[in-house]
Amino acid sequence: MMSEVDPLIAGFERGLASTPLSRMPWSTPRRPHTAVVACSDAGVDPERLFDASPGELYVIRNLGGLVPEYAPDGGCHGTSAALEYAVRVLKVRRVVLLGHLGCDGVHAMINGPLKNAQDFVFPWMEQAETVIWNLHRLEPGRSVQDQLEDDVLRLSYANLLGFPWVRDRVSSGSLKIDAFKHDAKRSRLIVVTLDGRQIAAD
Ligand SMILES: [Zn+2]
Repeated sequence: MMSEVDPLIAGFERGLASTPLSRMPWSTPRRPHTAVVACSDAGVDPERLFDASPGELYVIRNLGGLVPEYAPDGGCHGTSAALEYAVRVLKVRRVVLLGHLGCDGVHAMINGPLKNAQDFVFPWMEQAETVIWNLHRLEPGRSVQDQLEDDVLRLSYANLLGFPWVRDRVSSGSLKIDAFKHDAKRSRLIVVTLDGRQIAAD
């Protein structure tokens, strides 16, 4: 009986990662200039999306691509810990919040708790639930989910500014924050502004 090939190990052997570092186009590991907070959905790949080389981006991914509220309570806050490392230790110059059209996390938030994933999924997405209650008007041609995905990005933006060391660096001009949304169907990148607009990025 032939043994099955592990597709991940086979992928590693085909890919650049199995090439010695000295023979790569980038021989010196780079210091990331940008932290990206993105959704863990399989279709979202910040490094491919922004055509970045390894080491350029400090990528933080979670369900829905959410930035939680600043809560230094001694609990284990994975996203906040990674953000603190990126901003205070690596001193990235930019934080990009990356949402996407058709987000499963936002879908779960709208449609209520998933019966088989309530331990962590429910409370995680519930932290953004206020955006549902604040949605008063649907813009022409847009779905509830599409619009809420933008609002979740804006909530993350506001939460991010609640981290004092983020706010200080934004105030001093040494850190920039942007919110983008990827529309994979139409290959579009959209800039989501805080005042409720969407601007095509290209
Ligand atoms: Zn998503």
